[in-house]
Amino acid sequence: MTIASIIEFQNVTKQYGDGTKAVDSLNLEIKSGEFIVLIGPSGCGKTTTLKMINRLIEPTSGSILIKGKNVGSYDVDRLRWNIGYVLQQIALFPHMTVEDNILVVPEMKQSDKETMKRRAHELMEQVGLDPAVFAQRKPSELSGGQQQRVGVIRAMAADPEILLMDEPFSALDPVAREKLQEDLLLLKKTFGKTTVFVTHDMNEALKLADRICVMREGRIVQTGTPDELRRNPAGAFVREFIGRGEGGLHEVLDLRRWVTAFPAEPVHPQIVLPADIHTDRLVSVMADHEAAGVEDGGELIGMINRESAFRLLASEGRGKVHHE
Ligand code: ADP
Ligand code: MG
Repeated sequence: MTIASIIEFQNVTKQYGDGTKAVDSLNLEIKSGEFIVLIGPSGCGKTTTLKMINRLIEPTSGSILIKGKNVGSYDVDRLRWNIGYVLQQIALFPHMTVEDNILVVPEMKQSDKETMKRRAHELMEQVGLDPAVFAQRKPSELSGGQQQRVGVIRAMAADPEILLMDEPFSALDPVAREKLQEDLLLLKKTFGKTTVFVTHDMNEALKLADRICVMREGRIVQTGTPDELRRNPAGAFVREFIGRGEGGLHEVLDLRRWVTAFPAEPVHPQIVLPADIHTDRLVSVMADHEAAGVEDGGELIGMINRESAFRLLASEGRGKVHHE
């Protein structure tokens, strides 16, 4: 095991009482600060994998290590305080205010009340919930998206080292969902928590993940960065999943919002793309180039790098009417 890995699955199998092998000889190392997405069809073992990390489920065989120590050797309450957990339907306490809901776990950790309150308000601001407006509201006075936002920051309020998220946005409408994904990207940038995020939506995976782990029938089919999966899908199963995430191939995308300035050193891009470009062209060019120039009306307006191109593809690939 390398020093940097915070969670490690060593040959982990989970077989339920009725004989179902939900997870089958899983090996996976998750690095500190990494945002890893587990993706795969319903029933492939994602939730079981996640719940073995915070000991809601015990493996049948194999070991799960956190910072090199078997999860079983930690005090289970302490382990869970140090692991934020967000579910599809977060359960906020209905009779408590938003602020008190966020402070539940930190209070159990017995941190200084004022410090925790400040942190709760900071987190609320990070996700666009003005504390002056929302701190004293009850959950019933929030929209579904806002409630889920509170669930996410509640999981982060105690400053856990690890966040587990099990399809946290899948019950939301597409607009709220996209907003929450943006929030999460911002939180990721700010706090850089080690996160294990479960979804069956490739768009979401491509948008959020540092690394994606594709699962099928309790096994890992492929693990890699969004870029690696796109360029080198391990067979038809992964290719099909990726394809679903990409939307229509002939959709015209607008690169203007995604363009950044060239670095200080003047560079001559090897390739220049039009600001309005077909999805398939963008995919094939970005598979071969780290970055490309972008021109609009005959003028070079900046560059787009591979990462932002793929984020663009992930965010545009959903719910659109496909041309052709
Ligand atoms: P996912 O989250 O990917 O949809 P799960 O981890 O929930 O998958 O489930 C994996 C497999 O284990 C499925 O076949 C599911 O039916 C089965 N399973 C999950 N929980 C139990 C349980 N408590 N008892 C028996 N089988 C279960
Ligand atoms: Mg599940």
